Amino acid sequence: MKDLGSEILEAKGDAVTKVIDSLEAIFEKYPWAKEVIHSWSQYGFVTRMARDTIEWYHHLIQHLLSLSMSVGWHVAKEEINFHVKNLDRIRTDANTRIECLCKNYAYLRDGHADDWRSAKLDHKRLLAMTQKIADLQGLPTGGGWTCAKCKTSVIHNKNTACPLQHLSNKEVAKTVGLMFAGKLVLPQQE
Ligand SMILES: [Zn+2]
Repeated sequence: MKDLGSEILEAKGDAVTKVIDSLEAIFEKYPWAKEVIHSWSQYGFVTRMARDTIEWYHHLIQHLLSLSMSVGWHVAKEEINFHVKNLDRIRTDANTRIECLCKNYAYLRDGHADDWRSAKLDHKRLLAMTQKIADLQGLPTGGGWTCAKCKTSVIHNKNTACPLQHLSNKEVAKTVGLMFAGKLVLPQQE
């Protein structure tokens, strides 16, 4: 995957140049001024789309790479399967090549904006992180028990109320994420 990351980075410049060249070739068939053709090829929306798509794709690979190193390969693999399935569906469902390109663009744009999160993935990531932290700290994992609300067994135990119970599920995921990142400490529960 590291190789794939650097390959994409290398291919990035080439791919964009290719897009620019083919656009220029197409536009040259029209009676347009050279400057117009040049600026459309360099900065037109097709070039912009190609540039962004490759950028975000590369970002996704980097995200998966850091995920596999921080949480574990099995979680990264789950996410790869998830994105491959979605991208594959986009390709199969698209009626034209341009539709496929646009949908790919939108998928990667939205994924990038959300930092490649989804409710489904968040839960899996959280469980894997809980396990990893419990392993690291030698904490009991509750004998298979996890709290239904915070999805962990390290914040509190089976016999105490969940300190996050008043939060929405989305807020819980965010709070637990911050705690695991060491950016938030909950007051000690009695
Ligand atoms: Zn809880």
